[in-house]
Amino acid sequence: MQINLISDTVTKPTKGMLKAMMEAEVGDDVFKSDPTVNKLQHKIAEMFGMEDALFFPSGTMANQTAIKIHTHHGDKMFCDKYAHVYNYEGGGAAANSGVTSHLIDGQRGTFTAKQLQEAVLGGRSDIHTPYARLVALENTTNKGGGTCWDFEEILKIRKVCTTNNLALHLDGARLFNALVAKKESPEQYGEVFDTISICLSKGLGAPVGSLLIGSKSKIEQALRVRKIFGGAMRQVGYLAAAGIYALDNHIDRLAIDHTRAKIIGAALQNCALVKNVEPIETNIVIFNVIDSINEQDFISRLNDAGIGLISMGQGKLRMVTHLDFKEEMLESLVHTIEHI
Ligand SMILES: *Cc1c(COP(=O)(O)O)cnc(C)c1O
Repeated sequence: MQINLISDTVTKPTKGMLKAMMEAEVGDDVFKSDPTVNKLQHKIAEMFGMEDALFFPSGTMANQTAIKIHTHHGDKMFCDKYAHVYNYEGGGAAANSGVTSHLIDGQRGTFTAKQLQEAVLGGRSDIHTPYARLVALENTTNKGGGTCWDFEEILKIRKVCTTNNLALHLDGARLFNALVAKKESPEQYGEVFDTISICLSKGLGAPVGSLLIGSKSKIEQALRVRKIFGGAMRQVGYLAAAGIYALDNHIDRLAIDHTRAKIIGAALQNCALVKNVEPIETNIVIFNVIDSINEQDFISRLNDAGIGLISMGQGKLRMVTHLDFKEEMLESLVHTIEHI
């Protein structure tokens, strides 16, 4: 049995999703005349109580567009040292927008309003310091092992942003995992953030696609930036249909992925070759193997048993549960871990 836990991006469309894609009504989205794309954008904006939304080929492009519309060349963005926008988008903030990243030394990808306040005051504007324009949060945190933000802290961060004239963007690649885990609503996030990016191709199980949500004027700017980045597509309703299907059918079931991740974590905890397992809040399991065994050896042993996982560097290994990871695979995986 092949059990692929390298990421929640490995899923393939279900029969129902494929059917929705095949039956999609499409048009030329560059002329804004793809009804399925329009429907998806409208649907997500409504869910979050925000004015408008825009479909993107990738989460990276959605985030990079957000950074570009909130900043000018030479400006500064605050984010956690683990942030995807800083670590895993090819230096895009600098390359596309000429933006410097001020990294905050947070906990598992989250930080406090007090830390942000200190960072803002430490770089008070004079001719020496870059203009501070933007704060980017990530929920759940990827490198932080699927950690969810405390919403009360987000509200305090919003206050710091408002006081200091900073825009607030959320990299919500896995926001729905956080909403399900914490029993929160999209609307409460829509009220707080200037822009939110969402990945349809992670836990939600669509093959391709992300969304950027925001005000009419921000999405109008984003439309132009998306064109510049080469992300304006034509009969893309086939992909938007997968996104609509995912929003209708694959949100609540994320709780199953979370339960399975916790079961994997418990099995790893009992494994003699595992040193520690980080707290599991959603669908990401991060753990370290004991010093006396080589982490590549451990990966190879699991690979030989048909199980895929990846290294996150610094001795950390990662498994991610998802739509295509089924109950019998969980049983097989736990059995393998118990006997490794
Ligand atoms: C996956 C991911 C993205 C976007 O990645 P793409 O592969 O470009 O879709 C952005 N932020 C986080 C936290 C992610 O995990």
